[in-house]
Amino acid sequence: MTYNELSQEQRRATLTQLRGDYISFQSRGLKLDMSRGKPCKEQLDLSMDMLDAALLADVKDSTGFDSRNYGVPDGIPECRALFGELLGVPAENVLIFGNSSLNIMYDLIGQYWTHGTGGGAKPWSQQRSVKFLCPVPGYDRHFGILEHFGIEMLQVHMTAEGPDVKVLAELVADPAVKGMFCVPKYSNPTGVTFSDENVRAIAALSPAANDFRVIWDNAYCVHDLREGGESLLNIFAEAEKHGHEDYFIEVISTSKISFAGAGISVLAASKANIAAVKSRLAVQTIGHDKVNQLRHARYFRDAAGVYAHMQRHRALLEPKFDAVLECLERELGGLGIAQWTNPAGGYFISLDVPKNCAKRVGQLCREAGVVLTPPGATYPLGIDPNDSNIRIAPTLPPIDELETAAELLCLCAKIAALEKLEG
Ligand code: PMP
Repeated sequence: MTYNELSQEQRRATLTQLRGDYISFQSRGLKLDMSRGKPCKEQLDLSMDMLDAALLADVKDSTGFDSRNYGVPDGIPECRALFGELLGVPAENVLIFGNSSLNIMYDLIGQYWTHGTGGGAKPWSQQRSVKFLCPVPGYDRHFGILEHFGIEMLQVHMTAEGPDVKVLAELVADPAVKGMFCVPKYSNPTGVTFSDENVRAIAALSPAANDFRVIWDNAYCVHDLREGGESLLNIFAEAEKHGHEDYFIEVISTSKISFAGAGISVLAASKANIAAVKSRLAVQTIGHDKVNQLRHARYFRDAAGVYAHMQRHRALLEPKFDAVLECLERELGGLGIAQWTNPAGGYFISLDVPKNCAKRVGQLCREAGVVLTPPGATYPLGIDPNDSNIRIAPTLPPIDELETAAELLCLCAKIAALEKLEG
């Protein structure tokens, strides 16, 4: 029976019993964290050989340049080639940055804000209105950058194929719409990989703004959780068919491949966009950490090396996702109060509880010692108009803790749903 079908008496009895279970959870003094998509210790341990001094017995890059010294702001050639291979773009269309792709994204928006996208376009700060497309639910830190610059965020619903392209096509007719942040593979938090048709439609968009830029944040490009994984079309190959390659900037990092706090990040773009970013970089830095670039290039060698390494991550993460999914199915399946994703990759499970219940679930969890990503965070300005989406991040906690946290989460979802039915 779904909760909707229960009689008032049955509902009250169920709620009383669940509240009893909740009190026993509270008495356990739990302190569990399912809030952020951080790799666990065992995942970080997978890359420890990268710190082996033998890997740097020779500190010169493939051109004979001493990686310890100043210079080479584009990144060392072997690293550009490795990530070019991984992303399916020529090495000259790739730049290597520091440890955070979020930093690349912030700097891109900052560059467009103060200096424009190049080719004579006015800085965004000097334009009357600047708006960005935001597929929702989405990644809170993308929204954070846009909020920081005072850029208006237009929400676009995520379908099972990617952002609703009909809505995108309508919205880009407004010249104030300057771009979009999106996560095309194993999206944060929905796990959706944009379908071929969806990527083709995005590549074909005809924005009214000629300084339109999509930040193609491919953070989870190699992060399969299931055998075979899902595949994503190459955005540049599709965009070139329409002469739209300047509209797209792709970013990735090794934050969830090697070390979340000490990896490297990568930007891939058209010739014109690379030139524009390089002219800024010439002022911004004398070069990023090339010793770390050398470590990464030598440790992984090529794209196949990265894929082989990601299988080891998968072996650690798949059981964690399964544990949460089994709990959701066992506890919430058939009650008619929740829907959740079963992602083939990435770092999250997205859970939808009844309208106006997500914050209550977050509060109940917190008061029993489990921290979730704050409900609302998956929407611009932290406001989920339905107050129903909850992002579950299963990677960090050990599996026994994760099972406990997932059980509590389900219990809180049931209590919140029944409280709502009780009015
Ligand atoms: N993009 C997405 C979609 C993410 O989920 C994350 C991490 N949660 C990042 C970027 C952050 O990447 P980095 O560590 O390279 O800054």
